[in-house]
Amino acid sequence: MKFSEEDLKSLNREFEKSSPQEILTWASENFGPSVALATSFQVQGMVLIDMFAKTDPKARIFTLDTGRLHAHTYDTIEKTREKYSINIEVLFPDSTEVEQMVTSHGVNLFYRSIENRRLCCQVRKTNPLNGFLKTLDAWVTSIRADQTEQRAESKKFEIDYLHGRMLKINPILDWTIDKVWDYVRKNDVPYNKLHDMGYPSIGCAPCTRAIERGEDPRSGRWWWEQDSDKECGIHFSHETKS
Ligand code: SF4
Repeated sequence: MKFSEEDLKSLNREFEKSSPQEILTWASENFGPSVALATSFQVQGMVLIDMFAKTDPKARIFTLDTGRLHAHTYDTIEKTREKYSINIEVLFPDSTEVEQMVTSHGVNLFYRSIENRRLCCQVRKTNPLNGFLKTLDAWVTSIRADQTEQRAESKKFEIDYLHGRMLKINPILDWTIDKVWDYVRKNDVPYNKLHDMGYPSIGCAPCTRAIERGEDPRSGRWWWEQDSDKECGIHFSHETKS
């Protein structure tokens, strides 16, 4: 199912005031198993897992296991499986690509240049994601507009030009982090304990660190990079905005 920009304008108008649950219900009714929620088990993703698992018992939820995740993230995946009695589809990078990359550039290549870091994100994240998304018609993400300048330009319903013009759905795009935490506490949603240790944003272990109060929430991601877009290529191309 392909959508035009006019279709998207109409969808965004129709669902402007709708709750995330109403958007997820629409996604399930229109796409069934051809839509899936992408999550890295950060707190905003946990909100959508809770909502999606409750609105659709057959909801598909997937994650990327880069091989470099924090132990706390694996704990969160397990807690989520148990609480909602759901399977999580775990995508792995191609082992040959990883072997060639670390043989040529070292296991911690990302610290040496932005190019190396983007190569690692491509091999461990975007390549497996791209292959998986080809099997879907739509995907759901937990991006929020207040996270980065690029995300601020997103819409709840978008044509994903990075991934074959499929539909990209961002149901909590207009939520603040306070609203996210409020939902998590009220609904007893499990979350990654790194958030209690000063990590507002959580990615791979070697590329994420805790931040001080008052710092930009994404400053703990690839903290050694100056003037980079702090994106891994999943949501935006590094050259042009999607
Ligand atoms: S976040 Fe770091 S370890 Fe993870 S894929 Fe990107 S560069 Fe590699």
